[in-house]
Amino acid sequence: KQTIKELKEEVAKRKEAEYKIKESLRKERELNELKTKFLSLVSHEFKTPLSGILTSATLAGKYTETEQQDKREKHLKTIQSKVKYLNNILNDFLSIERLESGKASYKFEVFPLSKVVNEVIYNANMLLKDGQKINYPSNIDEIIVDFDEKILELSLTNLINNAIKYSPEYTTIDVVVIPEKENICIQIIDEGMGIPQKEQKYIFNRYFRAENALLDQGTGIGLNIVKSHLENLGGTITFESEQSKGSIFTISFPTKNHTN
Ligand code: ADP
Repeated sequence: KQTIKELKEEVAKRKEAEYKIKESLRKERELNELKTKFLSLVSHEFKTPLSGILTSATLAGKYTETEQQDKREKHLKTIQSKVKYLNNILNDFLSIERLESGKASYKFEVFPLSKVVNEVIYNANMLLKDGQKINYPSNIDEIIVDFDEKILELSLTNLINNAIKYSPEYTTIDVVVIPEKENICIQIIDEGMGIPQKEQKYIFNRYFRAENALLDQGTGIGLNIVKSHLENLGGTITFESEQSKGSIFTISFPTKNHTN
């Protein structure tokens, strides 16, 4: 026969077991909600560019005559730029996965800075709005760096694409390179909507998007992963911004890899 004390212990144990089950159910529900949120974010993000691709592909297929060559090319360019955009988002998602699972691996390579900068600007040119232009840095021909090329490309792509996205038509984006003793600083300067002062502290949080940016497409992932990757590689990212005036994003990274 159980004593009162034993009975009380038994009840306490059951309560604890019940609490644990409830807790794990709650966690599972939270995880499911997060997954649903993520899936809806992804679907939403892919829907508009995909329907744009479909329209352009259909129209490009209609312009078969030689004199319609220009129109066809315009639509093919649209397809190319939208596919690039989707590809960038997928790369960001893959980055998160690698950063989270601790599987982010880096590869240092020696390469001319101009190679990556020119390529990123070339691709970004396809996304420009009417009257927007990007000024190339003028002083990079001689600069050789020893860094992870893919991460530099991903960082600059994110920053330049943001500068385009969050700036209106007929504005200029400057890419400025400042070589320092052991680092290279690259600034992306835009004349866009800027980031409201009170939201600036959240800007590197994953999924965070400022109030004034919500009309544009976006996932709130780019800056978060750029920061994580750069910091893993001894670099930094900072910004200054004024609402309705523009933003300056600055990345800095070591030009020599000291781990070799
Ligand atoms: P996304 O652009 O996909 O929303 P990011 O992580 O690249 O995600 O940026 C997070 C948020 O920071 C954006 O939603 C926007 O509110 C703000 N932001 C980033 N870059 C700029 C910029 N150049 N000008 C104004 N706001 C910006």
